[in-house]
Formats: sequence, structure tokens, C-alpha cells
Amino acid sequence: MKTMYDMIIIGAGPSGCFMAQAFTQAGLKCLMLEAGKHFNKQTYPTNDLDANSQLYWGGGIELNKTADIGFLRPKVVGGGSIVNQALLDRFDDNAFDSWRNVSGIEFFNQETMSYYYDDVLKDIKMQKLGPELRNGNAKIFAEGFEKNGYLCDSLERGQSNCAYENGNDCIECLRGCRIDSKQSAAITILPRALKEGLRLISEFEVTNLKIKEGIHIVEGRFSWGEQASFKAGHVTLASGAIGNSRLLLNSKFNNPNIGRGFYSHPQAMSLAIYDQEINAHKGAFQTMKSSDPNFRLQNFKLENVFAPPVGIAMLLPGIGKVHQERMKRITHMACIEVAIRDQNPGHITVTSDGNLKITKELNEVDRKSLKAGQQAIHQIFKSTGAKEIIDGEFKIGLHLMGGLAIGSTRSKSVVTPNFSLYDFPKIFCADSSIFPNAPGINPSLTIMALSKMASQKIIKGIS
Ligand SMILES: Cc1cc2nc3c(=O)[nH]c(=O)nc-3n(C[C@H](O)[C@H](O)[C@H](O)COP(=O)(O)OP(=O)(O)OC[C@H]3O[C@@H](n4cnc5c(N)ncnc54)[C@H](O)[C@@H]3O)c2cc1C
Repeated sequence: MKTMYDMIIIGAGPSGCFMAQAFTQAGLKCLMLEAGKHFNKQTYPTNDLDANSQLYWGGGIELNKTADIGFLRPKVVGGGSIVNQALLDRFDDNAFDSWRNVSGIEFFNQETMSYYYDDVLKDIKMQKLGPELRNGNAKIFAEGFEKNGYLCDSLERGQSNCAYENGNDCIECLRGCRIDSKQSAAITILPRALKEGLRLISEFEVTNLKIKEGIHIVEGRFSWGEQASFKAGHVTLASGAIGNSRLLLNSKFNNPNIGRGFYSHPQAMSLAIYDQEINAHKGAFQTMKSSDPNFRLQNFKLENVFAPPVGIAMLLPGIGKVHQERMKRITHMACIEVAIRDQNPGHITVTSDGNLKITKELNEVDRKSLKAGQQAIHQIFKSTGAKEIIDGEFKIGLHLMGGLAIGSTRSKSVVTPNFSLYDFPKIFCADSSIFPNAPGINPSLTIMALSKMASQKIIKGIS
């Protein structure tokens, strides 16, 4: 409490790390507080159970009120960039047009955002995952798309050298890359911020934010229970869509829009069992994506993915012997996932004792998109010789967005076009929580680009 910081950054995900780097480079005295642990390539968990419990909130998964959508919310230094698939995509015109319409903000356009996308990609190594890297699952994906006349494309991923020839499997890096190939914020941008003087405190969960005589006081507790507080002239919220809403609601900020407009690109996996071995977990396990404009029009995309055994076991319907017999065929399974661009916004609230309550349902339009995607998946599996097709009944949300929507109209938003909170000019945010709706495209490159843009505006405003 003795030190007065210029800026406290809450959350060490991609947004927090990019903001921290820009602030420290500009000479601001910065503290970053992160609830998760600070792992490195030698210390990442090496099995699914440890990874789920140590890298995520809620012991691995948090549920909506109706318990039919599970949210995977990272809790680790580096945030989602430690556990994600590092697929970095630029938004298309469709996504920006809809953001401009709903937010009234003009800088959501290709020309302005391209500058920041390019700037982010100076810090990250990218590799195109061409046909030579397709594993059994990707080959089925490509063959099925061709047979049904759908369009697909190779993916581009933030990675430097996965050395597949040494037998490395990318599915492992869903619990942290142990060869530092995946371009997580923890190995790309955070080390630069630390070098510039950033103080990082991990395993510290912020529970309250208040302002006293113009000074921001950030209170919380370490994972071992000890309480502490820190003070600063300015605060940056970077604890992700759910984290920011929860913190502001528990801190009694009274903008009625906080927690509203929550989106998650809900996705459902379909598995197919083949006579031959597929080994969907091997090598570069996700190399292809759908690029069909008809799919985009119907608000869904198909992904060539697989999940580690615990994930597959959870998604596979059934219990007891039936489930066990199916799991024994895991090496014969192919998997395609449909992710929808959800139209029905959810609502993040907190209970009287500060716990999360997430209301998130699919409406008729969302269900139609999901069904259309599953029908296309069935066509792909059938045309490639699947013996049995199993649709996962449980939906997952990985892209957690909204809750602090950015917008030019105070009555409809939480964050101003200058990335400060309405009525709180020294509290800033540019992470996934400012998304005004679901873009239907991988979000993290845009989160980093917006964080670059925001930090430049904020530094100008402060100095
Ligand atoms: C399995 C998986 C795969 C994904 N794949 C992709 C992909 O391929 N491409 C893509 O673009 N996106 C992907 N995503 C989504 C992407 O990772 C997120 O959109 C992105 O990480 C969000 O960045 P952020 O900085 O807004 O928040 P986060 O990355 O969520 O970081 C927020 C951080 O704040 C911390 N925090 C929260 N509350 C508090 C608190 N009260 N006190 C202190 N710290 C707190 C959290 O612990 C967390 O570390 C994936 C996500 C998952 C889970």
C-alpha cells in the first residue's frame, strides 16, 4: 500500500500484457495483478486434470444458469493465450460494419484497424498450416468439404517452431506450450514489459475497486488467503469479459449496462467413429477452417478440432459401459465442431455473496444456426465413410466477450470511445469485455489490436 503506482492493470491476459508493455515503455510506474499462477515451459501441468484445475477458474469450467453451456475461463499469467489455439484472424467487413452500427464508433473499419493488426503481428511469429501438416482428422475435414462442395482453408497460427518431426502434438499445448513455440503473451509481450519495469504479482485476486480522494484503491487476496491493497492514479481493467463485470458489480459500480451483452460463440462438437485409425490428437491437430460464405450468412463456422481425453469424455453423451466402450475407440474418432455467432446476448450478474450468475441461452435464431452447422457436419462425416455419428449435447463457450460494451451512447454502453469508463475517466478497458456483439471470428488478434490502440490514446491523455 505504500507505493503509489501510475497504473494498476488487473489481469494478465493478452490485453493486460499489451497494455502493460505500452505503459511501461512510456515510463509509467505499473503494477499488474493476476489471480492465476505464473508458469513457464518447465512448470506447465502435464496432465489434463491438473491443467483443468490449475489453469482455469471454477476448477476447469463454469456453467450458465441452466447448466447447458460451459464456459472455459483462463486463470493464469498470459490468460487465454496460454491455453488457446493461437488462431489469429482479422475481422472481415461484416464484423466491423455490425460493430460500427451497434456502437456508433467510426474507427471500427478495415483501414484503421489494419494499422493495429499489422503492429501486433510485429510482435508475434505466424505460421500457415499447409496441406503437408494435415493429420487424419484434417484429411477427413478437407475430403468431406470437397465432396459436399463447401469451401475451407488452411489456418494460420501464432507459433514459431512446433518441430512436428520430433513427434510433438499441438493438443498438448492446450495446457501451456512446453517448447515455447506457441506465441502466448507470456513469452512475446510480457517479458518486454517486465524488462521495462512492470511489477507483476500473480496469485492475487482483485475483489474490490474503490476511489478515495481521487486515488484508486485496489483490494484483494492472495491464493493463500492473505489480504492486501494497492493504490494508483489510474486503473486498467483487463480481467476478461466475466472478470471485469464481476469485479465492477461487486465493487457496486452502478451503470446498469455492466454485465449486459455477454456473448461466447457457443460451440458443439460432433464425433464420428471410423473403421480405420484417425489419431485426431496427433501432430498439428487443428489445421483447417470453413471459409464458406453461406456458412457465414447462416452465422456458423465449422472447425477441425479435437479435445484432450478428459474433454472428449465429458462431451461424449452416455454413461457406464456404453460410454466406456466408445472412449476405447478414441483413436478411431474424427471430430468437427460448429461454433455459432450468437445473436441472443447473455447477462452476467452476481449474487448477494459476490458469486457469479450467468444467464445465457440460445434463442430460435441461434438454435437454427447450430442445427444448420450440425447438418453440414453430418454430410461431411457420411460422405467420408463414418460408421457412427455422435452429436455432443453439451455446449462450450471459449470466446467470452462483452459485459462492458464500448459505445458512443452513454445510455447503452459502459466504455467510451476513448476506452475509459463513462463517469470514471481514469479507469480504462480494451479487452474482450468491450466487444459490442459477437463477431463470429476468433477474437484475440482484435483484442490485442484494440489494446494497442487504447494504450496509445491513454498515454496521450495522461501525459
Ligand atoms: C481453449 C480455448 C481456445 C481458444 N482458442 C482461441 C483461438 O484459437 N483464437 C482466438 O482468437 N481466441 C481463442 N480463444 C479465446 C481467447 O483466448 C480469448 O478471447 C482471449 O484470451 C481474451 O483475452 P483477454 O485479455 O480479454 O482476457 P483473458 O485472456 O481471459 O485474461 C484475463 C485474465 O484476467 C485474470 N483475472 C480475472 N479476474 C481477475 C481478478 N478479479 N483479479 C485478478 N486477475 C483476474 C484471469 O485470471 C485471466 O488470466 C480460446 C479460448 C480458450 C479457453
